[in-house]
Amino acid sequence: MKQRELFTKTIKENPKDEKSINAQLLIRAGFIDKLGAGIYSYLPLGLMVIENIKNIVREEMNKIGGQEILMPSLHPKENWEITGRWNVEEMYKIKDNNLGLGWTHEEIITPLVKKYTSVFPKYIYQIQTKFRNEPRAKSGILRGREFLMKDLYSFHTSESDLNDYYEKVKEAYFKIFKRCGLKEKTYLTLASGGAFSSSFSHEFQTVTDAGEDIIYICKNCGQSFNREIFESKCECGSTEFEEKKSIEVGNIFKLQDKYSKLFGMDNIVMGCYGLGITRMMGAIVEVFNDEKGIIWPKEVAPFDVHLLELDTDASEIYDNLQKEEIKVLYDNREKSAGEKLNDCDLIGIPIRIILSKKTLEKDCVEIKKRGTDELELVKIKKLTEFIQNEL
Ligand code: ATP
Ligand code: MG
Repeated sequence: MKQRELFTKTIKENPKDEKSINAQLLIRAGFIDKLGAGIYSYLPLGLMVIENIKNIVREEMNKIGGQEILMPSLHPKENWEITGRWNVEEMYKIKDNNLGLGWTHEEIITPLVKKYTSVFPKYIYQIQTKFRNEPRAKSGILRGREFLMKDLYSFHTSESDLNDYYEKVKEAYFKIFKRCGLKEKTYLTLASGGAFSSSFSHEFQTVTDAGEDIIYICKNCGQSFNREIFESKCECGSTEFEEKKSIEVGNIFKLQDKYSKLFGMDNIVMGCYGLGITRMMGAIVEVFNDEKGIIWPKEVAPFDVHLLELDTDASEIYDNLQKEEIKVLYDNREKSAGEKLNDCDLIGIPIRIILSKKTLEKDCVEIKKRGTDELELVKIKKLTEFIQNEL
């Protein structure tokens, strides 16, 4: 894509009404736009990142048997009265219509699965917009009032089957975090069962100062505990912990028969498995940035390479890279070298390629990976091969 064709542009100044790094950088670099507190538009570059994350999540969910569906955002009051959750503060309500905007989907998925199947287990998921009346929407896309979540629900005829599947989902989540670059920073954390059950749930907590949670990581065995259940002694016997600020990117629960019972499904136990798509995008930016901008991990980056032409024409290189299905953002705007370089660092595509008169004299382009300072000259003839080895 030619950068000049983007209808958005980069912004020099930090937006005054945003304190979080993720919102500041994403707005300045042209990935998102703020409409109101906790409400954002995803612009072309931002949507590319979202689609990359969604595809990673989708692939890993399909590998563990997930069937994808899409449920509505508008929910009839009756469904929520069955579970007694119509009056929770999260729910946005549409007065006079007896409709609410979905903030989770147990009330919809349970009767839906009951209606269509009597053969179990079944694993159903969606990637969908959730609405939540969040009083503290101050962390950019980490906490939206409208946001994208992947929610998976599993239905089983025995608790042991639920337990087995629960472990599979844990593994799938870590594959997702690995592909999104977050694995090293993300801890499986024991947390309370919340409103659903008396037992524990598991959170996937990514360590970052932008986080609103506190976790305690056992220095001996690596087990992590949410502050809300932390008891200063680990199951392994150790009493030494590291305290870290973190953001919950995923949360998995064994719902047991709470919802299946209420909706009249006999002898069925359920699990639910949430993962924040837009929150993960924000967490990635919080973890991977420097004073110049964002540093996208490869698999989620909007493009593979950012091609900059300085005082010459790189259109042939652009065409050749594209022929090889390398995703290129091509900057042939009439701007100063400084502006192009600054935008490139701000946007944060993994590989920068510069063609200038100077490099052309040597039949080369200059390559720099975002996040490093090393410059490398590569022969133009060898460029596609070089890039393909990097992907
Ligand atoms: P939190 O404790 O951070 O408020 P939660 O426990 O209410 O989150 P869940 O109901 O478990 O969240 O939702 C599943 C996932 O959806 C979360 O792990 C998170 O990644 C994402 N999520 C929840 N609320 C928001 C939000 N307001 N904005 C963006 N993502 C969210
Ligand atoms: Mg939670």
